[in-house]
Amino acid sequence: MKSGWVDSDAARAVDEYGKRGVGRDLALRVYTSRLLGRDPALVLHGGGNTSVKTTLQDFLGDAVEVLCVKGSGWDMATIEPAGLPAVRLEPLRRLRARDALSDEDMVSFQRANLLDPAAPNPSVETLLHAFLPHKFIDHTHSTAVLSLSDQANGTELCAEIYGDRMGLVPYIMPGFPLAKKVAEVYEAAPDIEGVILGKHGIFTFAEDARGAYERMIEMVSRAEARLARDRKRGFAAVQLPNRVAAAHDVAPILRGACSIKDAKVEGAWHRFVLTHRAGDAVMGYVNGREVARYSQEGVVTPDHTIRTKNYPLLVPAPDAAHLEAFAAQAREAVGRFVAAYQDYFARNNAGRNPPKRALDPMPRVILVPGVGLFGLGRTLKDAKVAADIAENAIHTITDAEAIGRFESISEADLFEMEYWSLEQAKLGKSVDKPLAGQVAAITGAGGAIGSAIARRFAAEGAEVALLDLDPAAAGAAAKAVGGGALGLGCDVTAPDSVRAAFERVCATFGGLDIVVSNAGAAWQGKIGEVDDATLRKSFELNFFAHQTVAQAAVRVLLAQGTGGALLFNVSKQAVNPGPSFGPYGLPKAATLLLVRQYALDYGRDGIRANAVNADRIRSGLLTPEMIAQRSAARGVSEHEYMAGNLLSREVTADDVAQAFFHHAVALKTTGDVTTVDGGNIAAALR
Ligand SMILES: [Zn+2]
Repeated sequence: MKSGWVDSDAARAVDEYGKRGVGRDLALRVYTSRLLGRDPALVLHGGGNTSVKTTLQDFLGDAVEVLCVKGSGWDMATIEPAGLPAVRLEPLRRLRARDALSDEDMVSFQRANLLDPAAPNPSVETLLHAFLPHKFIDHTHSTAVLSLSDQANGTELCAEIYGDRMGLVPYIMPGFPLAKKVAEVYEAAPDIEGVILGKHGIFTFAEDARGAYERMIEMVSRAEARLARDRKRGFAAVQLPNRVAAAHDVAPILRGACSIKDAKVEGAWHRFVLTHRAGDAVMGYVNGREVARYSQEGVVTPDHTIRTKNYPLLVPAPDAAHLEAFAAQAREAVGRFVAAYQDYFARNNAGRNPPKRALDPMPRVILVPGVGLFGLGRTLKDAKVAADIAENAIHTITDAEAIGRFESISEADLFEMEYWSLEQAKLGKSVDKPLAGQVAAITGAGGAIGSAIARRFAAEGAEVALLDLDPAAAGAAAKAVGGGALGLGCDVTAPDSVRAAFERVCATFGGLDIVVSNAGAAWQGKIGEVDDATLRKSFELNFFAHQTVAQAAVRVLLAQGTGGALLFNVSKQAVNPGPSFGPYGLPKAATLLLVRQYALDYGRDGIRANAVNADRIRSGLLTPEMIAQRSAARGVSEHEYMAGNLLSREVTADDVAQAFFHHAVALKTTGDVTTVDGGNIAAALR
């Protein structure tokens, strides 16, 4: 591992932060924290922490000795001075005299000694930093160090590599006892340059920022050098089926198997978003003959349990020719995982006072030989964090197995971490959005109505895919939605294009729950004179494309087995034809019947089919020129034309999006048509 320290960059950090009133110590602390944070082989997603002991002025202007230590919620890669809250050092040090300290008391004592009461919670490893005398302290979960430490003979291996330069501390959960233990190890050997926390990570320290940082790099490099020696060849691979199923076919099956039926709301499911990884290291690992052993050993460092649970789920390799059989195996495997997780909870929770609150029993990482790994989360973001951590663990375990045999902490220690009181306290504090965990695909999403639907669904918690004939429009609309929104070019009149787009949606999010078949265009012509080609062209887009999209969606919904919603943008033309609008109204009328046919044929699968009849919305179908022309022809103002309905209110794309959202959450409505037209008796449905 190479040092990233650059003198001129360090000087610039001191200079730039100095202009904002930040002292040299803290500026350099931020600089090297970022150097550590940018390397996923050292820290990942908020893992690791750093500190500096310095002097700051309190509110009264008195100089106080403080510990500036990483605050929770901050990522070292992007940390700022505000991410290193200052805690009065003297009171922290005095805590060492105590025999015991609960995590809750530790957190509130640390908060009570913040210089700025609005600062984030100081790290749970704050006392470890405080009890050591060094000015700069760096802590990472280096994969190389963990590959050595996560072994049955990890202590001997570390002793062999580091000699007496590093203290060795056996595994103890982070908190007060660990902080005391590390201080004792240091005091017994005050020349050490850092400590290895068994099966957890590494600390290095020094009197200056560069010294602590360079020591981290050196110690990690020594671990890397050891891992490069006497390596076994990669994992021996299992025999895979001739044709392994594709990730986009496997994901909906797994996603359905991991969905949890809502106990209170009939028809509702607690779903997850899945993200897929299939790099070389992942494939070598999941295809290994002994994957069932080394993947079920436990986490590589304890705080991973909070994101990836205790163990990943391992399922058999899926044969593309026998997906049904795979689906049955996957459901069984999930059932066994859930039962084992519930046993693990009951076993470790027995006799506790107060008892712990059980977390949902579903896996957060699924390993599939031949296919790769899937990270699961309630949002794409959470799924990606789980997948990143799983990939990181794969690197660590692969290297551990190359020189020996990977070993994790005990089940009891895993449970302590997963059910840590500080984590339990966070439960139930955030409220899920109505569409959390759901995936929606919207066609014609580059236009005014489609993009309004996508925005609304994303705001309600869904992951959204925006499909449009124009890939640039789809991309721009997806960018405007933000988050993980996916923009895809898709010609809904071409079945191959629709299939490819749905495969991408499933590969990206793991499946699909809601489709809004919205793409459409208007053709005109007096029905007795219109040419055949025009009418057929309109039928292609305004009828057959809805059928193609709905059919592609049903295939995914059935694979998941958790119901779903097929939503169609029909038109008031379907029930209230306008003169010379036959080419548009006729296929839309057929689509209205299509909605009812889907409601009829798939109701027993929990799939709902509903439609929205909107009228007079500013969009690609009703352009400013058309509005000007029509209002002039009727002798009314543009506003009077647009609001020419019973309520005299102009209807907008957001109103249409509201109606689609209603259908997405109305679990007991199917075969319904909702009008969004401000009131039009002539277009009222019987
Ligand atoms: Zn740690």
